[in-house]
Amino acid sequence: MTDFSMELSADQVTLREWLHGFALNEMRPIAAEWDEREETPWPFIEEAAKLGVYGLDFMMNAVGDPTGLSMMIALEELAWGDAGLAMSLLGTSLGVAAIVANGTREQQVEWVPQCFGSPGDVKLAAFAVSEPDAGSDVSSLRTRARYDEASDEWVLNGTKTWITNGGIANVHVIVASVDPALGSRGQASFVVPEGTVGLRMGQKFKKMGIRASHTAEVVLEECRVPGRCLLGGKEKLDEKLSRVRDGKRAASQAAMATFEATRPAVGAQALGIARAAYEYALDYAKERKQFGRAIIENQAIAFKLANMKMSIDAARLLVWRAGWMAATGKQFVAGEGSMSKLFAGETAVAVTDEAIQILGGYGYVRDYPVERWHRDAKIYTIFEGTSEIQRLIIARAISGVQIK
Ligand SMILES: Cc1cc2nc3c(=O)[nH]c(=O)nc-3n(C[C@H](O)[C@H](O)[C@H](O)COP(=O)(O)OP(=O)(O)OC[C@H]3O[C@@H](n4cnc5c(N)ncnc54)[C@H](O)[C@@H]3O)c2cc1C
Repeated sequence: MTDFSMELSADQVTLREWLHGFALNEMRPIAAEWDEREETPWPFIEEAAKLGVYGLDFMMNAVGDPTGLSMMIALEELAWGDAGLAMSLLGTSLGVAAIVANGTREQQVEWVPQCFGSPGDVKLAAFAVSEPDAGSDVSSLRTRARYDEASDEWVLNGTKTWITNGGIANVHVIVASVDPALGSRGQASFVVPEGTVGLRMGQKFKKMGIRASHTAEVVLEECRVPGRCLLGGKEKLDEKLSRVRDGKRAASQAAMATFEATRPAVGAQALGIARAAYEYALDYAKERKQFGRAIIENQAIAFKLANMKMSIDAARLLVWRAGWMAATGKQFVAGEGSMSKLFAGETAVAVTDEAIQILGGYGYVRDYPVERWHRDAKIYTIFEGTSEIQRLIIARAISGVQIK
């Protein structure tokens, strides 16, 4: 039994201080450069691996905290440093989470270390669900997985889009439909190992924000993977499909529960961006003088800062609550995971917008980081479920009504 406490443990305080130092010294100085370059920051990822911020051990330590707060604290600090650079480290965890959630013990042991590699030889993973015609509506995936019994191989065909680390990852986890008639209940996840013929990167996207994180299409053409690459194994899939065909309830609810549990981690990143902008704007408002006084002496500015701080603290409470619920196995009865991601994402957009306003013209130009934080913040109301989809989840959870 882990009681909820707002008092951080000594380990959590140490973790926060260590990552704050990393964010301040290793991320802030290079953030603007990688935003402009819009490329994967390999030297930074290598450095993070060397310092122990990227890798299996780091993830295991953060996930291993029974209170669930360590991961939230870690992600807030990394995104405070820079959300794009943070995502260049965190994209891998999407693939890892899919393997952990759906894979057998043997599959986890085989694939998870390969997702990270090691210092000096870092690897990346990607998790590919979204398609050009299937974003929020993941039940309508067109990517197909066909089983070739003769060779015990799965053959994947289709196009994935908006994939973080897509085409450059060493391990891709691809969600594909095995039986399209069954919608999301007819889907399964497949590991595509490095060097597999038939998987290639399509278009690389030029983005508004988080530009140090690579986003691209993944094209699958007669892409063959061994039978053991089906996460969870064929027996389990066949059992699930026959249950669904018999009209019984089946496992896609489990996938939804996993998403709900990982959402606070996304919210924690949004929170980091919001805090960065708030702190910057607060300092600036005390320094900047107009009409012979600091601009913070005007209520119009001071009240903005009061609201920004209040929203950030409220977002953190929602993120920590949901992180704690996920770690302690509490059931999400009112979409608490969605609440945390939704509120933190919208807070990040609003707070960075207000920060630009407080800086005036200086907020609008690239010599200052605030416009970048605003561009970075916007993705948090879009990916991992848009704000509208989060509201649907909460509304359905609290009402029991299948709201459209
Ligand atoms: C930078 C970036 C990185 C990403 N990384 C990944 C990744 O690694 N892996 C991956 O699989 N995907 C990834 N995505 C995809 C992301 O999850 C989708 O963009 C997102 O789910 C929305 O899908 P869509 O873009 O097709 O929008 P749509 O689903 O077409 O939505 C368009 C608008 O309609 C609204 N809408 C849709 N349906 C409803 C409804 N029922 N009720 C009310 N409103 C609705 C949406 O909220 C939105 O405002 C990434 C996207 C971006 C931009």
